Amino acid sequence: MRLILLGPPGAGKGTQAQRLVEKHGIPQLSTGDMLRAAVQAGTEVGKRAKAVMDAGELVSDAIVNAIVAERIDQPDCAKGFILDGYPRTLVQADAVEAMLAKRGIALDSVIELVVDDRALVGRIVKRAEDARAAGQPVRKDDNPEVFEERLREYYKKTAPLTGYYYAKGRLKTVDGMASIDTVTAEIGKVLAAAAK
Ligand code: AMP
Repeated sequence: MRLILLGPPGAGKGTQAQRLVEKHGIPQLSTGDMLRAAVQAGTEVGKRAKAVMDAGELVSDAIVNAIVAERIDQPDCAKGFILDGYPRTLVQADAVEAMLAKRGIALDSVIELVVDDRALVGRIVKRAEDARAAGQPVRKDDNPEVFEERLREYYKKTAPLTGYYYAKGRLKTVDGMASIDTVTAEIGKVLAAAAK
């Protein structure tokens, strides 16, 4: 199964992706996680990405496309994968099409988690509080100021992907404001319908 989860920061993509990993035994490919790992490891990519990420802006298409192209060739992606936070621009969306076509594989579903913007800042603040309470590091970009910029980037560059996939007849939407379990169940229904 090859799936794209779309939605603004804080929509619950990561949470749902983790549940799908457990259920389907395929990896979650979060470009955010991969970039944070690169920053942590101090690689060239990490050095170039750090300031951009801290400011809540998008890392260049060339960097993220290269990271994903390399990742999907790993053996654990053979059965499928969940793209979480990628693609985020139209250039990236075209890159996904090209990457998959080159490998003779296809996307099964694109699912957008539809959320109310006003709830998102609250979710991000809670995510930071939960991480702090669990003794985990708090993401530097999970604060209200940087979050505003992440949301602006989303509307400028990522929201057009909804139209892109809709026009291809691939877009499915799920109410991301419902409870986590309900969202999981709705995603399950979409995937079951796509598998028929
Ligand atoms: P996320 O964990 O998905 O919220 O991503 C955190 C940050 O990583 C974003 O604010 C961007 O700076 C960067 N990032 C993650 N995925 C992408 C992507 N597909 N394209 C560009 N930048 C990305």
